Order: sequence, then structure tokens, then C-alpha cells
Amino acid sequence: MDTERVQCLIIGSGPAGYTAAIYASRANLSPVLYEGITPGGQLTTTTDIDNFPGFEEGINGFELMDKMRKQALRFGADLRPGIATDADLSRHPFKVTFDGETTIEADALIIATGATAKYLGLPDEHKYAGLGVSACATCDGFFYRNKTVAVVGGGDSACEEASYLSNLAKKVYLIVRKPFLRASKTMQDEVRNIPNVEILYEHEVTGLYGTHAVEGGHLVKRRGENDEERHDLAFDGFFLAIGHTPNSAIFKPYLDTDEVGYILVSEPGTTKTKVPGVFAAGDVADPVYRQAITAAANGCKAAMDAERYLNHLKEEK
Ligand code: NDP
Repeated sequence: MDTERVQCLIIGSGPAGYTAAIYASRANLSPVLYEGITPGGQLTTTTDIDNFPGFEEGINGFELMDKMRKQALRFGADLRPGIATDADLSRHPFKVTFDGETTIEADALIIATGATAKYLGLPDEHKYAGLGVSACATCDGFFYRNKTVAVVGGGDSACEEASYLSNLAKKVYLIVRKPFLRASKTMQDEVRNIPNVEILYEHEVTGLYGTHAVEGGHLVKRRGENDEERHDLAFDGFFLAIGHTPNSAIFKPYLDTDEVGYILVSEPGTTKTKVPGVFAAGDVADPVYRQAITAAANGCKAAMDAERYLNHLKEEK
């Protein structure tokens, strides 16, 4: 197996990873960045991004990520295709294997592997991807002004998304599989008091329909094993808010994570993890904000934290 030693290794190519690469390159850390499964990350699957500062007319998600990528290349970052398949953070330099065949040894490691929105697993979610199905109300809600949308989920995210969408859409259905919401009491109270939000408890979506784009969903109301009621519900937008899975599995044996798998930082306000020299930035370490701008900001912090760590390491030698 090939082994290569680098100063600064970055894993992930969302706003956190590319921003870390821009800062690390400019600080002469010669970063090597592996771009993972979806170069550009989650934003490449959305359409227009209107809330990233600096683009007054909005920008297409793919274009924004392409600009960040090119900016990292401009300063000499070494960007490579490849998926991290194994890691050993119990030793220094840290060892990370890509695609099961290339091993990189790194003095500093920035984990910016993101989080993946969960989907229900319906074939129709793929069929209507970008045609009415979304896992991010803040990204795509704007397209549903004065339309009808459905949000699936009963947690804080679902309530927050329903509340956000209620300011844009004419009507919001919140589809909850249990007879109650799991969200915090404050969020529950807020969403229950919004006049254009209707909560459909004990409902599940079994499919979507529509000629070109989503026009509605097939719903089933389940009260018990033999008590089922099926009906169709018309809506233009279908939003999933059933949680995210942080892409942290291979690092879990070495780092502290919360119960969902989000990497915990050891010093609040920094990107330092419990292993000195390993930093976490972006959605893999952020269960709350999960925005492109906050991920980019954390990528910047991670590169600066890594630079300080590497300087300290040199001084010690
Ligand atoms: P949660 O895991 O808290 O909630 C997921 C919701 O989706 C649950 O209601 C769950 O149902 C439902 N769900 C899961 N799978 C399915 C499925 N296959 N079909 C239908 N429904 C499904 O995720 P969130 O993203 O809401 O929150 C994650 C964390 O982030 C939480 O700790 C939350 O408190 C926090 N958060 C905080 C916010 C804030 O403070 N402003 C905002 C957003 C999130 P069930 O209850 O039946 O399991």
C-alpha cells in the first residue's frame, strides 16, 4: 500500500473543507484535500443559494462550490478524489486510508466530512430529486412562495423547517409518524400556534405523485396494526426533516461524539478535538446551525488551529 507523509490533511470538500484548504495553503501548510463521495458536498444538490453573503443575486449551489474549489486550487491546495475508508488517530503522524489503497500520514488532520440528510428511502425521492423533494427548507423554501408544502418529521428540525416555510408558503403540512412531536416544548408550542401549519399525526408517506414535478403524496394513517386509512394529499414541495447522519464513523473510536455521532470539540469556540492535532469543522461537528456560511467559518478556524498546532510542534522539535 502506498504511504505518503503530509503536513496538513483535509478530508471533505464542502464549504468547511475548501475554506480550510484556502487558509492552510495561504499559510504554507501545503494541504492535501480528499474530496470524498460528492465533491462540493451537500450544496451541489441544492439549486440557488440566496443566503451566502457576497452574492447579492444569489448563486447556484454547484457554482458556489466550484468557485471555492478553484479558489483553493489558486493558492496551491492539492485536491484529490478519494473516500476515507479507515483511520488510525492513536498514533502520530495520524494515518488515514483512502479507497482502501492509499495511506496518508499527516501531522495535522482536519475532518470536514459533513453530514448526510436522512431520506425515507422511497424510490420517488430519487425520481423527484430537484423537482419538489428537498432536505433543506432554508435552501429551497423560497421556491414555494404561496404554494403548499409538506414537511416530514417530528423533531426540532421539522418544527423549525415548518415554521420557516410557514412564512413563505400558503400552507404547510407537518407529517408526523407518532401521535406526538418529539421537538422541545417551545418549538412545539410555536409550531402549533402558526395558523397555516397543520399537523398530521400518525401519518406516513408511502409515495409521491406528479407528472413532471411533485404534485402530492400518498399517505397512510396508522392507529394500530389493523387500523389503516389511505389517502392522497396535494402539495408542491416535499421536505424531509428526519435527521442527519454525521459522516464520522471511522473517527468514532478515537474522538468524542454525541449520541448521534456529531464530533465534539474539546474547547468550545475552537475546532480542537480531544486528540491534539485533529480538528473538526462543518456539519460533522455541528448539529445545530448546519449552514454553508457557518461551515466555511469553521473551516477557517480549523486551518488556523492547525497552523498553530504545527508551529507548536516545530518549536518542540
Ligand atoms: P431528531 O432525531 O430529533 O428527530 C427526527 C424526527 O424525524 C423524529 O420525529 C422522528 O420520529 C422522525 N423520523 C425519523 N425517521 C423517520 C421516518 N423514517 N419516517 C418518519 N419520521 C421519521 O432530528 P432533528 O434533526 O429534528 O434534530 C437533531 C438534533 O438537533 C436534536 O438534538 C435537536 O434537538 C437538535 N436541533 C436543535 C434545534 C434548535 O435548538 N433550534 C434545531 C434543529 C435541531 P420519531 O419521533 O417517531 O422517532
